[in-house]
Amino acid sequence: MRFFGAFHAGQAETPAGRYDLSKGQNPMTRRDTLSLAALPLLHGAAQAQTPATARVVTTTHAAARLHSYISAASAAHVTAHVIEGPSGLVLVDGGWTPEAGRDIRALVESLGKPLQAVLLSHFHPDHWAGLTAARYPEVLAGATTAALMQQAGPAMAAAQPQPVNVPRIAVQAPGAVRLAGVDLVIAYVADTEAPEIMTVEIPGAATVIVQDIFYNRVHAYVSRQLDTWIEVLRGLQGRGEVTFLVGHGEPATAREIPRLIAYLEAVRPLVAAATPDRAAIVAEMVRRFPDYAAPELLALSLSHMPPG
Ligand SMILES: [Zn+2]
Repeated sequence: MRFFGAFHAGQAETPAGRYDLSKGQNPMTRRDTLSLAALPLLHGAAQAQTPATARVVTTTHAAARLHSYISAASAAHVTAHVIEGPSGLVLVDGGWTPEAGRDIRALVESLGKPLQAVLLSHFHPDHWAGLTAARYPEVLAGATTAALMQQAGPAMAAAQPQPVNVPRIAVQAPGAVRLAGVDLVIAYVADTEAPEIMTVEIPGAATVIVQDIFYNRVHAYVSRQLDTWIEVLRGLQGRGEVTFLVGHGEPATAREIPRLIAYLEAVRPLVAAATPDRAAIVAEMVRRFPDYAAPELLALSLSHMPPG
């Protein structure tokens, strides 16, 4: 498969030139390739189902404005977020496709403030391949993510359908940090959708950027770490009235967590088999969660899952 590339050795590879999620439609040539000006901008609202095309959701708080770029369905609604503080901007993740990367750069430039840091939540390329189009010189990530990028970054980059640079990574320590005039709390969560995922809390906006710990009505990239993942989600449920900016789909609240736990609990016995029947699992999950986008992402994760 061309998405996460050769990180798991011995996987079957499809011919180059397509994003797996496009299901025969290369996003490069799709008509929903948008300039930022064409993106629908929604202020302060979340909606139940993500529209098929890319858009930006902006919310305004005393401490910061938060801009969430939500990719098109053809790119699994992968997100990037801009934290706009009084003195600058912080970008979290860089999108997947060159179009998303350019949209995100246009969003950053449209805000007219200096970009002070780029944070990378985890090592999966749907969150950093788009940085190539945006040409950010260096990104900050956790120590595990930095090591994974060093180990697997070039193979993942080579597996993308368009030329992609592996970003230069510097390690960001966890804890409280003030960036762009905004107080943030950075933490690292182990063994959920990826070996390590950075979370960024913005206490002044009652918001936590949790990226791929949280999929909102999008089929998940599953692993064999489902027990830990569910445990982490139960912990997030106790966070009270906060907004979660998620890695795939619309901003969410704790009210959406039971649905994601139900999804992971439904897929858990299906992937427990030593050699799971991938097509049957995807068909069953699509049947049970008919309104979820991007079943190709689930299929892709099953193709990458090592034998149990
Ligand atoms: Zn992702």
